[in-house]
Amino acid sequence: MERRTFIGRTMAGGALLGGAVGAAGPQSAFASQSNYIMYTDDLIIERDVPGKPHKGKVLAAIQPHADDIPIFAGGLVAKLINEGYTGYLINVTNDDHAGPGTVGDTVVANERDNFEIAKVLGLKKVFNLGYRNHRMDNIDRTEMLARMIFLIRALKIDTIIGYDPWGHYEENPDHYITASVCEAASWMAGGGKDYPEHFKAGIKPHGVREKYYHARGPHLVNRVVDISSYIDQRIRSNVANRAQGPAGNHGVGLRERLKREGKKLPILGADDAETNYNYVKEFLLEDEKRLGKEHGLEYAEAFHYLGPGQGYAPKQPEYIKEHAVPLR
Ligand SMILES: [Zn+2]
Repeated sequence: MERRTFIGRTMAGGALLGGAVGAAGPQSAFASQSNYIMYTDDLIIERDVPGKPHKGKVLAAIQPHADDIPIFAGGLVAKLINEGYTGYLINVTNDDHAGPGTVGDTVVANERDNFEIAKVLGLKKVFNLGYRNHRMDNIDRTEMLARMIFLIRALKIDTIIGYDPWGHYEENPDHYITASVCEAASWMAGGGKDYPEHFKAGIKPHGVREKYYHARGPHLVNRVVDISSYIDQRIRSNVANRAQGPAGNHGVGLRERLKREGKKLPILGADDAETNYNYVKEFLLEDEKRLGKEHGLEYAEAFHYLGPGQGYAPKQPEYIKEHAVPLR
């Protein structure tokens, strides 16, 4: 998966969760492909929250490929788990076209990486759905929808983190098919008529209430999450992607190449683990630093967040409260 550069040109004013209010400013539209973030005027900065405010809630980090969550949302996942969530990693493809050796070797290598990513981020279990890599526009979407509805109900998933189904210029079918199926499953899982055989088996309707969407193209962002306290887990989740992605063992690769040229970068260190860690910290977090700086933070990740109270709100309850009179 190739990552594209985020450049937020301007910022809007916004409320802060757990912090001071930011400065008001003009809205921006995407002026070009290199200007990827457009902020909403109700932008929220989500900061660290003390204690375990999310205790009892369940999240699913959903990724088509082994490197998607570590690259876009590793900090957010670590933060929410630390704040009380129970979490699961759902890996949708078998990653068979992105990694070392034969196709079979590649599947095993990515599977191993996913277990490590879940461990680093504090996720309880990995579910591998096993669709072919790069081939998701060939799947039966209703079959995947049914599987996702089952998982949402069975695990009682309250919050999902994944690709934005409304992201622009996304070129990978695995990304946009996963995103759109998961969005539909999120609300259908709460209904009482879809897949009634689940109820016979004791599994009850349960809808997703919160969604954090990330994107790699132009993105409408209404939530910037401060991940400064979780940068160590974020980096280690990137290093865990040894089969694919820009992190893994690339630090050691650079160190060895420079050695052959009779040079070294002191920042990389000598020990392999230290070299790979420092490589990610130094070279692969430019977007997070830039985004953080825009909002007075050290490191940040950007999302489109959907939660309770957003969207259409019926006016009848308020009207009834004000105008209803007793029956005589
Ligand atoms: Zn991907």
